[in-house]
Amino acid sequence: MRVPESKNIALGETQQDLIIFLKQHHLTITKTRIKIIELFQESESALENNLIEKKTQHQFDRITVYRTLQAFLKTGIIHAIPTYSNSIRYALCKGDCNEHAHIDNHLHFICEKCGKTICLDKADISIIQLPKDYTIHKADAILSGICNVCKTAK
Ligand SMILES: [Zn+2]
Ligand SMILES: [Zn+2]
Ligand SMILES: [Zn+2]
Repeated sequence: MRVPESKNIALGETQQDLIIFLKQHHLTITKTRIKIIELFQESESALENNLIEKKTQHQFDRITVYRTLQAFLKTGIIHAIPTYSNSIRYALCKGDCNEHAHIDNHLHFICEKCGKTICLDKADISIIQLPKDYTIHKADAILSGICNVCKTAK
């Protein structure tokens, strides 16, 4: 029998919380999953595959990172944000998202200079008035401009 990866990690208190969190989303515990959730929690902006690989110093291969993100997406831990390039960025879900429903009804902001992407949690798109008998299933609208760091950078 394979020993679960989690047996090999020394767990801090926050990691214990992460384990509970993963269990709540019906996911098994792996080193990769814990590490990647930590990255999301530490990051104030959305992350993409490449960045995650870089931040974990290529500790996990591309496929593992990809699969982890897909599992997180499916279970409502993160949501996908389209960008103007072909890449997709991901951010933690803040509401009660789960495998049945993602309720991330907010806009996203992308910095034209550095590419930083953030959730605009307060910009609730559910108040947008649609024509009669129209229903929104997915909201991908993005706003672009200059972020605070790029604004002050000379
Ligand atoms: Zn969500
Ligand atoms: Zn910027
Ligand atoms: Zn978001």
